[in-house]
Amino acid sequence: MLQTLQPEEKTAEAGQDALRFRRCAWCRSATEHTRTLCRVCGSSDLDEERSQGSGAIGWTTGVVHTQELVHRIRQTCFVALDEGFTVPATVEAQAIEALPTGTRVRLAGLVPGEKAALFVPA
Ligand SMILES: [Zn+2]
Repeated sequence: MLQTLQPEEKTAEAGQDALRFRRCAWCRSATEHTRTLCRVCGSSDLDEERSQGSGAIGWTTGVVHTQELVHRIRQTCFVALDEGFTVPATVEAQAIEALPTGTRVRLAGLVPGEKAALFVPA
């Protein structure tokens, strides 16, 4: 007997996950969508919302320089979105050194197979 597999729609789903967050119905604090309780007041009454995709680099965990003779970097970091929550991110930029904390970035898309969303300088 043959088993029919449903086509996977992982990429589209990952994209939605990257920018989803929860907002507390009581104190309006934003929190990561993986949390089930508000981190400020502890309420479980959370509404799901989507981020606009703009934020600033919170802290950097690593930088990869390309081997080519161009000044491009891939910086793995956390981006603090304007709505008030933080997501793991990869920032690609034309730069020589890592972008400093506080640099404004915007969502550029998603890297298939990676959890981190792709951002570029705003
Ligand atoms: Zn709350």
